[in-house]
Amino acid sequence: MSAGHLSAHTYPLEAWRITETGFDLATHFLDETLFALGNGYIGLRGTHEEGFSGPANASLDGTYLNGFHEWEPIQYPENAYGLARRNEFMLNVPNGKRIELWIGDERFDLAQGVILNYRRFVDFRHGVATRVLEWESPKRQRVAITSERIVPLRHKHLFALRYQVKPINFAGQIRLVSALDGAVKNVEAGDDPRVGSAVSGPALHLVDAKQADDFSALVHRTRNSGFTLVSAIDSTVAHAGAVTRTQARHGQCVQQQYDVFAGEAQTVTLTKFGAYFSSRDYPEHELLERARNELAKAKALGFDALCAEQHAALSEFWRRADVEIAGDDALQQGIRFNQFHLLQSVGRDGKTNIAAKGITGEGYEGHTFWDTEIYILPFFLYNQPEIAKKLLEYRHHGLPKARERARQMAHAKGALFPWRTIAGEECSSYFPAGTAQYHINADIAYAVKLYVETTGDDAFLLSHGAEIVLDTARIWMGLGHFESGSFGERFRIDGVTGPDEYTAIVNNNYYTNAMAQLHLEYAADVAERLRRDHPGAFHRLADTLALDADEPEQWRRAARRMYLPYDRERGIHPQDDSFLCKKPWDFAGTPKDKYPLLLHYHPLVIYRHQVCKQADVVLAMLLLGDRVPLEDKRRNFDFYEAVTTHDSSLSTCIFSILASEVGYADKAYDYFMETARLDLDDTHGNTCHGVHTAAMAGTWLCVAYGFAGMRMHGGEPSFAPTLPRRWTHYQFKVHVRGRLLQVRVGGGEVEYRLLEGEPLALRHRGRPIQLATAATVALHDEAIHG
Ligand code: BGC
Repeated sequence: MSAGHLSAHTYPLEAWRITETGFDLATHFLDETLFALGNGYIGLRGTHEEGFSGPANASLDGTYLNGFHEWEPIQYPENAYGLARRNEFMLNVPNGKRIELWIGDERFDLAQGVILNYRRFVDFRHGVATRVLEWESPKRQRVAITSERIVPLRHKHLFALRYQVKPINFAGQIRLVSALDGAVKNVEAGDDPRVGSAVSGPALHLVDAKQADDFSALVHRTRNSGFTLVSAIDSTVAHAGAVTRTQARHGQCVQQQYDVFAGEAQTVTLTKFGAYFSSRDYPEHELLERARNELAKAKALGFDALCAEQHAALSEFWRRADVEIAGDDALQQGIRFNQFHLLQSVGRDGKTNIAAKGITGEGYEGHTFWDTEIYILPFFLYNQPEIAKKLLEYRHHGLPKARERARQMAHAKGALFPWRTIAGEECSSYFPAGTAQYHINADIAYAVKLYVETTGDDAFLLSHGAEIVLDTARIWMGLGHFESGSFGERFRIDGVTGPDEYTAIVNNNYYTNAMAQLHLEYAADVAERLRRDHPGAFHRLADTLALDADEPEQWRRAARRMYLPYDRERGIHPQDDSFLCKKPWDFAGTPKDKYPLLLHYHPLVIYRHQVCKQADVVLAMLLLGDRVPLEDKRRNFDFYEAVTTHDSSLSTCIFSILASEVGYADKAYDYFMETARLDLDDTHGNTCHGVHTAAMAGTWLCVAYGFAGMRMHGGEPSFAPTLPRRWTHYQFKVHVRGRLLQVRVGGGEVEYRLLEGEPLALRHRGRPIQLATAATVALHDEAIHG
């Protein structure tokens, strides 16, 4: 078929990989995201080495470095005090993937000539993106091309490519150009608030270029954030005959050109290593040398050895994190795909985090949100606790900025974390659905509590956790106030936005108040425990924070008096003081193409109605579930389900989990289906701009919290498993307090197996079970069928 008649491909349902079976312009942009590779630092979109000459809006040749950013002043035509001032955004950095292939005078281009066959795949156990194709040029010269790419998990600053070309029906001149292209820029903001940065044109300024032998490097500087970046490549060509090498520079693009005469069926192989080092991590004067060394080491190791290491790193990940679902291939693929991308996207140096879209695209400009603490951190906590700890260290690192922000927001004490950020600056220029989401503080404290209880890592509580929890708790005291009336005394929190972004700036958002209550109680508990068990550490912390002796008691009082709205007539928690009085949204009269509502209605129109973008009260039912009777949960689920659009990708997983708990098995399954393949099936239509990391983690939570009914009570796991009708069994693993537990549900029984560690106490439907080291307990349980 010719380039104009490209085959529509599908992704076959495969348990351990995704395969693209044909080159298809219609899904090209999406595939760039799905085939993105990363190692928590470097993120390479799955763009083709040779570039793309098709429509400009069908491709984004992105290369990203977690945490490496520029900022621009935010311009407000109508200004106000305290609005976010700087927008930090993730930069598209020089493209080191670029390889040009020339066959005589014809340049290989996927959008020209004829693609005779084409396959691209990534196996989640190997982490190599492989593309195999045959192509016939307009002059009918045929070549076979195999390209492989990895971003090594064990080498933060490195990526590697191997590119092999074989003439099929001719012998002739082949030219391979290995380039490092600095002429890159970010996507410019359009009408969709979820995509693009406000900066137009290049944000990186070239300072220097170096070329010697097979090595090329570019040195860039950012204007405002003041970072220096060294991007470097090193290439080698292997071929039976002579190879002529020349080097060239065209503006911002440095390249090595290799010319060979290839006989028919004779393979020419280009191996290319790339490295990125920035002054965010190292002193500026070391960067170039570090890049050279990294590339020299990689070259000595070789592409195959790097692949073997990658396989070993991934084997270790899957040994501890794999989820097996028997009986549903689509889900099996979806969940592993999601886990693989989470691992690829997450920062693990304590200074970087995980962005809403990972390092796979420019949606949300590389910003980190509460998505981390409420969705993603639990996934890592139960699978790779050391990464969960690093995510919390990142927040600790952000405390000084959070304190500054609190002062700007008129809080005399405490720390207020930003709603969206890269390096700690509040970047939400739309405060009603940004800064107003004060629940971020409680979400972070919740994550510290969950981490400490699940791992037993008290040392972390002493070194980092307590400072975060206490200083963030103080914000509630400055934000809320005690109110007295016929009802007695209550603590209310006015003028905030809860998780649901279709309702803004309200009084007493139930989620916020309930999470603040937990936060205040926990902060008081931590203070008391520290004072009792670690007086030295407590006094140091109290000094650092200038903590008044009576603050913890005030926290307890506010927690005790916290106002948690409840509507007796309906038996539900109103989302806030005004929600139930609002006019119901006309769902019947809203055509499908008007969703997501945020792209079709002014925010005020949405805010005036009883309509939710995402789980809000329903999420509180999950996180604070031990405080709410089951019947209440069911009523809340019923009520909020009817008014929720799920326009946010963070919604369906929470509804799935709650549906499992309240006994709606079919709904639990359907919502899970929507979550698990959200990116693979592009159900939100914007995966081309990056994967949805919260939903990816939410998939795992649906299995563990949802179907298996797992909850953590003070570090003791409890389970109440069900088995979806279409599955024969499922199995997953959980890390608790240094143990590795495997849970398997199917064949009429539930099996708990302690794979590693000391004996473990758990609960099965409330019944205590003691698991000895290396023991397996299998329980016959008809209740799994609902
Ligand atoms: C959601 C937020 C979320 C953000 C980033 C928005 O659509 O409403 O809850 O934090 O996306 O994922």
